[in-house]
Amino acid sequence: MGDHLPAPSSPQPKTRTFSSLGRRLVLATLLFCLLFTLAMVTLRTWMAWESNLTEMNSELALIDQVFQNTLAHAIWEMDRESLDKQLSSVAKAAPVGRVALNILRPGQSPETIEFNRYPLGPSGVVPVLHRQLVAQPYIGANEKVGELTIEGDNHLLWERLWKEARSIVITQIIQSLLLAGLVMTMFNRLVTVHVVQIARHLSGLAPQTLKHHLKLQRSVHGQDELSLLEFQVNALQDNLHAHLERQHSDELAIAASRDQLAELVEARTAELKAANQSLEALSRHDALTGLANRRYFDELKEVEFRRAIRHRTPLAVLMCDVDFFKIYNDTYGHIQGDQCLKQIAETLSSVFGRSGELTARVGGEEFVVVLPNIDANQAYDAAQRLRASLAERELPHSGSAVSSFVTLSIGVAELDPETMDHFDQLLQRADQALYRAKHQGRDRVVI
Ligand code: GH3
Ligand code: MG
Ligand code: MG
Repeated sequence: MGDHLPAPSSPQPKTRTFSSLGRRLVLATLLFCLLFTLAMVTLRTWMAWESNLTEMNSELALIDQVFQNTLAHAIWEMDRESLDKQLSSVAKAAPVGRVALNILRPGQSPETIEFNRYPLGPSGVVPVLHRQLVAQPYIGANEKVGELTIEGDNHLLWERLWKEARSIVITQIIQSLLLAGLVMTMFNRLVTVHVVQIARHLSGLAPQTLKHHLKLQRSVHGQDELSLLEFQVNALQDNLHAHLERQHSDELAIAASRDQLAELVEARTAELKAANQSLEALSRHDALTGLANRRYFDELKEVEFRRAIRHRTPLAVLMCDVDFFKIYNDTYGHIQGDQCLKQIAETLSSVFGRSGELTARVGGEEFVVVLPNIDANQAYDAAQRLRASLAERELPHSGSAVSSFVTLSIGVAELDPETMDHFDQLLQRADQALYRAKHQGRDRVVI
């Protein structure tokens, strides 16, 4: 199990810059809070405006209630001093911006007295109160004596509104910041730390550590997305571990069968080699006698011939033929004839067993002996030794006209480098000598 999981170099992806989920969440929350604050500030400011207008209206109405009778009385009584005093009191009251009194006198053009807190004209947004002043000189008589107009203080109205709007904005901003902080803290505690822990766990994974399960440091009752993720990571590790174990045992099994196969191939190769060797031996040797066969003899004869020519060493050949072997077969049967040939071959091997000496069966009952480093006379002696050795065996041959035992006729020839340039010429010479041996009465050696 030499392979490893790809080792993660860092918990963050390399190609993109790392940006915390918590930070992004806070930014999104802040953006939402900003829009929400704008909407809330607009709504609450509008409501404050409405309530300020209502409040100012009721303040003006109260002032009107306090002064309307005394003003009407002062006009009726033509008490100018009291009139001015009262009007100035009305104009000084906090919510009043402008006060105007229209005095109506029958037969005269109306007179207007006006007090204005600010030099500029009416703003158009402040509340305005119009009142008909009615005097009651006696019970049951109502005289219209003037018209009173009270306008609210524009500056005061805006000042009050601004004050309220400021507190609305401040409270909304604080609320938003607190909400964003809370979201970030909760998200960090509930999600970010665990995600980082999972990333660290995964980056430390290797085939040897697959059995170490992920255990998130938190206490939750019931299931949530993180517990599901934890469960799946552990299941994946278990599967991977089982897979690697299987792969390892498969590799071991494959290695074992590979070794087994190699041994088998080795054994089969050795068997094949042995079979080849024995096949080669069989193809070179005569099955009955075990001597070299005609094919092998043909291979070796030229080698010996060339060597003798090159080294200028003598080379002799014996051509041997069993006498009256047809009669032998006729007398003792073919199977016995085979046994006889085997015994003749054994005799040949025992006499010519030195290294370099080659004995071959070249025909049915014909044998050739190649004798390197030996001249014709030494070969003649060797042939006589062969005859003597066979005679010692006393293989009965009742049908032979020359002996009561199996005998050989042998022709001997010697290499003559002057006249011969092929082994077959030497062989032919030996064959001629054998022919003469047969003609001279068999069971003999002729050079
Ligand atoms: P000669 O003395 O003139 O050589 O007479 P011969 O009978 O030996 O010669 P001939 O060539 O007429 O006969 C050879 C015989 O050898 C004929 C054949 O039956 C026998 N022969 C050849 N090969 C085998 C063999 O493998 N096994 C047996 N049992 N006999 C064989
Ligand atoms: Mg023959
Ligand atoms: Mg013969």
